[in-house]
Amino acid sequence: MRSAWLDELARLFQERRAAFNALDQRTGDGDLGTNLAGGTATAALRARTPEPALADDLAAVAGAFLDDVGGSSGPLFGLLFQRIATALTAPGEGAESERLAEGLRAGLDAVSRVGGAEPGDRTLLDALHPAAFDGGAPRARFDEAAVRAALAGAAATRDLVARRGRASYLGERVLGFPDPGAVALAAVLLALLERHDGVTRPALQAELAELTRS
Ligand code: ADP
Ligand code: MG
Repeated sequence: MRSAWLDELARLFQERRAAFNALDQRTGDGDLGTNLAGGTATAALRARTPEPALADDLAAVAGAFLDDVGGSSGPLFGLLFQRIATALTAPGEGAESERLAEGLRAGLDAVSRVGGAEPGDRTLLDALHPAAFDGGAPRARFDEAAVRAALAGAAATRDLVARRGRASYLGERVLGFPDPGAVALAAVLLALLERHDGVTRPALQAELAELTRS
């Protein structure tokens, strides 16, 4: 069985493997592209039903990252996907966009707790936090504004010195390059938004490609 969305996600990260490795080479150890391509490829192979619900797809990605992917991105992206999948299937009312926003907040909590980082430390939280919160206020729904905020947050990591992860050993040498995990997080959220509402967004994809190239 195949999931069209997981196949597309795996294709996207296969295509960007070298670019994410190059970005991670600048500020870390150069394996992030391999980690993301591997996790999404494994997830695509795990699809079990012909037309999986979004929650099934996200659970497949979570399992693949938690089981098979190393580095920091394996457990941290795994946890995030797991929390989003859980929010989508929790009992109660709520449109998918509202549940996705709840899932992002739950994922933010989990990743902060496990990784010990805060926004401003130059990690994927610098893209995830603005996607979940608008200033101090929780976003009511996951929408294009949330993804734009994640992209802006990822871009702004160019000006941050790292306080967590391998990049923290490099001091000011990372300045000018965005945090690869934050860019990857924005890429995942854009793919998630496009799956959620079925609208492709070439302008945001171009913005992402620009960030990934740096
Ligand atoms: P590693 O540094 O172990 O090789 P990856 O290359 O898989 O890990 O992922 C690197 C990304 O992980 C970084 O760009 C950063 O965004 C993210 N990251 C690293 N440490 C943390 C942390 N403690 N909390 C949140 N994100 C982190
Ligand atoms: Mg790495």
